[in-house]
Amino acid sequence: MTDRIVPIDENTAVLRPPSLVAGVGASKGVTADEVLALLDEALAVGGLSRDSMTALATIDAKAAEEGIVAAARQGGWPLYSYPPGQLAAVEVPNPGEAALAAVGTPSVAEAAALIAGHELVVAKRKSAMATVALARIRPRGRLALVGLGPGDRDLVTPRAIDELRRASVVVGLDRYLDQIRDVLRPGTRVLRSGLGAEEQRASSAVAEARRGHAVALVGSGDAGVYAMASPALAIAGTDIDVVGVPGVTAGLAAAALLGAPLGHDHVIMSLSDLHTPWEVIERRIRAAAEGDFVVAFYNPRSEDRDWQLGAALEILARHREPETPVGVVHDAFRPGQRVLVTRLADVDPALADMRSVVIVGSASTQIIAGRMVTPRGYKWQRS
Ligand code: SAH
Repeated sequence: MTDRIVPIDENTAVLRPPSLVAGVGASKGVTADEVLALLDEALAVGGLSRDSMTALATIDAKAAEEGIVAAARQGGWPLYSYPPGQLAAVEVPNPGEAALAAVGTPSVAEAAALIAGHELVVAKRKSAMATVALARIRPRGRLALVGLGPGDRDLVTPRAIDELRRASVVVGLDRYLDQIRDVLRPGTRVLRSGLGAEEQRASSAVAEARRGHAVALVGSGDAGVYAMASPALAIAGTDIDVVGVPGVTAGLAAAALLGAPLGHDHVIMSLSDLHTPWEVIERRIRAAAEGDFVVAFYNPRSEDRDWQLGAALEILARHREPETPVGVVHDAFRPGQRVLVTRLADVDPALADMRSVVIVGSASTQIIAGRMVTPRGYKWQRS
């Protein structure tokens, strides 16, 4: 899909986006033929296709100029016009004294093209009675924040698949991109990166959307849970559309494997102290403990962070019985999945790692038939 003239053979289909506008100036009495001939010359100089032309633009004083009106009609394009003050405010590469004296703005063709479009692609060209410049319209970009779920393909939502198919640029971590490669359209640009580099991933996704692309920023689970949506939206403005596609987050995936541990009030907490001071994390664990919330720990343990989960469980143990059920789920809905239901007194923190979620029950959580169950907190009433 391009507005450029490209070599084609019998195996090529070229789609023309409606992406070009022509700014037109003319002396009184210009013919439509002269305007169109100059327009075609400008398109040829830029290597651009007339099929991508969408509009002509000029100054108010020429909005009824017969040759310009007829040229627009012949091309099937609308004709836009602007007052001299608006045109004069546009910075152009080739301003002219003559135009300023005649119509009150140093540029008609280039300025009008830049108001109707965004970037000048062919500077002003002149014939005896006309001037033409071409600009390209930048489409409004779209940033989709797409959660891919915990792993298995059938836990990726159909809406996530639709957004990936729609995207012309996909940004994400290597291992997630590998999972969804087959659904991307041929020609989709894939910007892959390794772990870390989060800010760079977020900023390149936003930058691509600003350029007018349909971008999908993908992440595992839900893209807004300890993931890329926050850094991306921290720098995204009103100049792009943003669409969130929720995904099955790790805590829900783990809960489904454990039984129904989240049947009543619960909190999700990350134990990673890379970006949050441990004192803050500890204060929140104490609050969750005092509030008797079921707690789902993300990022429970890694090679460098080996003591935090033990410390967290110790805080909870001060407020909960040793028999409190605990679930440890490793690689939920992925190859190598492990599901363990145990008790607070027995849990070995070394069983958890960076690919695990640990769910600690509340005072009312029970183990029933080997499953972790948190009651809804009310009795079924008989009538
Ligand atoms: N955005 C992700 C979470 C990113 S934080 C989501 O919504 O799921 C990374 C943490 O998520 C891991 O350390 C681990 O605790 C958890 N996690 C992600 N996928 C998991 C899976 N399939 N099984 C178990 N834990 C998982």
